[in-house]
Amino acid sequence: MTGIVLPSTDELRARALAALDRVDVTVPDGEGLLARTPVTGEDLFALAAADADGTEEALTAAHEAFLSWRTTPAPRRGDLVRRLGVLLREHQEDLADLITIEAGKIRSEALGEVQEMIDICDFAVGLSRQLYGRTIASERPGHRLCETWHPLGVVGVISAFNFPAAVWSWNTAVALVCGDTVVWKPSELTPLTSLACDRLLARAAEEADAPRDVHRLLLGDRAVGERLVDDPRVALVSATGSTRMGREVGPRVAARFGRSLLELGGNNAAVVAPSADLDLAVRGIVFAAVGTAGQRCTTLRRLIAHRDIADTLVGRLTDAYQKLPIGDPFDRATLVGPLINTEALYGMRDALGRVREEGGRLLAGGDRRTARTAPHAAYVEPAVVRVPGQSPVVREETFAPLLYVMTYDTFDEAIALHNDVPQGLSSSIFTRDQQEAERFLSAEGSDCGIANVNIGTSGAEIGGAFGGEKETGGGRESGSDAWRAYMRSATNTVNYSGGLTLAQNVSFL
Ligand code: NAD
Repeated sequence: MTGIVLPSTDELRARALAALDRVDVTVPDGEGLLARTPVTGEDLFALAAADADGTEEALTAAHEAFLSWRTTPAPRRGDLVRRLGVLLREHQEDLADLITIEAGKIRSEALGEVQEMIDICDFAVGLSRQLYGRTIASERPGHRLCETWHPLGVVGVISAFNFPAAVWSWNTAVALVCGDTVVWKPSELTPLTSLACDRLLARAAEEADAPRDVHRLLLGDRAVGERLVDDPRVALVSATGSTRMGREVGPRVAARFGRSLLELGGNNAAVVAPSADLDLAVRGIVFAAVGTAGQRCTTLRRLIAHRDIADTLVGRLTDAYQKLPIGDPFDRATLVGPLINTEALYGMRDALGRVREEGGRLLAGGDRRTARTAPHAAYVEPAVVRVPGQSPVVREETFAPLLYVMTYDTFDEAIALHNDVPQGLSSSIFTRDQQEAERFLSAEGSDCGIANVNIGTSGAEIGGAFGGEKETGGGRESGSDAWRAYMRSATNTVNYSGGLTLAQNVSFL
C-alpha cells in the first residue's frame, strides 16, 4: 500500500520548538544526548546530558529541599500539585505535540496521556488531605496505639519512552503531596517532553511558593539512572521499563537497603469465552493489541480463544487489521503510528521469524511501510499469528504490535495458559457467563495485578493502583493506597495511664 505522507523533520523540529517556547523551555544546548523523532526517524537537536557533577548537585539540592518540604503541611503541598494540574490543562496541546513528536503517539492517545496527568494531579490534591493513619485498639489500659505516616526522602524516578510524561506524573504528583522530593531520569528517547514537564512543575512551584528543588530533572542514558540507583540519599527508586532493567536495578537498590518500586514488562492476555459478545470483544482486542502501535506495557499480546469461536473471531480480527490506517500520527485519521525505532522493528521481525519456526502461522500484517520514503522510521502493519501453543517466543514480551492467538477447550485450560508466562501485569476475559468472570477474578484465576471483564488489557484509569506481579516487578503506582510506597510509617504507643503496664502481661521491676 502506498500514499503515506509524513511531515518533514524540519516541520517537526519547528513544531517542537514552538511547543517548548509556549511552555517556556529553553533547550539546553550541548552534547551527550540527541532528541529524535520516530515520525521520520531523524534527529531533532543535540542536548546536554547530566554528568556526574550535575547529578551530585541535583541530588544534594533535592535532599536539601526535602528537609523543609517534609514539614510543609500536606494540604499546602497539595497546592503545588493543584497548580501543576492547572498548567497541564493550559498546555495539554503543547505536551501532546511533544509526545507525538518524540514517542510517535497518535493525537488522541497523546492528548489522553496528558489527561491522565491532569487526573492524577486531581487525585493527589485530594490525597493531600487523606494521608490517613489508623488508631489501633491497645491491650493496655490508658494507652493509645496508632500509626503515623511520614515523608520518605528523595524519590528517584526512572521512566520509559512509551509513557514519557504520564508515568512521571503518577510518581511525582503523589510523591510531592507525600512530602518527598523528586529527581527524574526520563528515557533518553524522550528528553523534550521531560524538559516541558520539568518547566511546568518549576512554574507551579514559583506560583505556589514551594522550593524550586522539590523537583530536579537529569537528562541522560542509563549511566545517569545508575547514579540514582546507587545513591543512598535516594530513599525510593521508582523505575519503569523493561524486565532487563528491573533485574539490574532491583538488586542494586536492595544491596544498600533502599526501597524500589518496579514497573516492568508485561505479556498480557485476554480469554475469549464462547458466550462473549464478539462485537465488543473485537473492538476491545484491536484497541488493546494495536493502540500505541503495540508499545504499551499493557498491550494485548496473547489471545486465548475458545475453540468454538476462534475461527470466527480470528476472521473478524484479520478483517479489522487490514483496514487499520497506519501513518502520520498527527493525522487524526491515523490509528497506528510508528514504532519508536528500527531496533523495535527488527525485534518484531525476529519474533515473527522465531514463531514461524515454533509452528506459528502469520494471518495478517507484519510488513514494513514507508521503508523507501522514510528509511529511518519504523512503520509496520500490526500482525496476527495463530500459534499451536505457548512456545518460547510467545512467553516473551516483544514490544511491538504482534498478537498471538491460541485456542482452549476447558476453562481450567484457559486459566492455566493465561498464567503460564513469567510476566503478570494485565489480563482480561470476554464472557457473558458470570461464573467464569468471577472465577477469572478470583484467587484461582488471573495472577496479574490488573484483571478486567469485557474490556481489554490496556487503558487503565488512575483511580486504581497500577502494577503487576512476577517479572513485572510487584510495584503499585497511581491510585488506591499506592501512596504508602512513598511514605514511611511509624507505630506510636502513648501511655496516659500514670502507671507502667507491660505488654503480654510481662512483669519486670
Ligand atoms: P528500558 O528498560 O530500555 O529503559 C527504561 C528506563 O530505564 C530508561 O530511562 C533507561 O535509561 C533506564 N535504564 C535502563 N537500564 C538501566 C540501569 N541498569 N540502571 C538504571 N536505569 C536504567 O525500557 P524502554 O524501552 O524505555 O520501555 C519499554 C519497556 O518498559 C517495556 O518492557 C514495557 O513493558 C516497560 N514499561 C512498563 C510499564 C509498567 O508500568 N509496568 C510502563 C511503561 C513501560
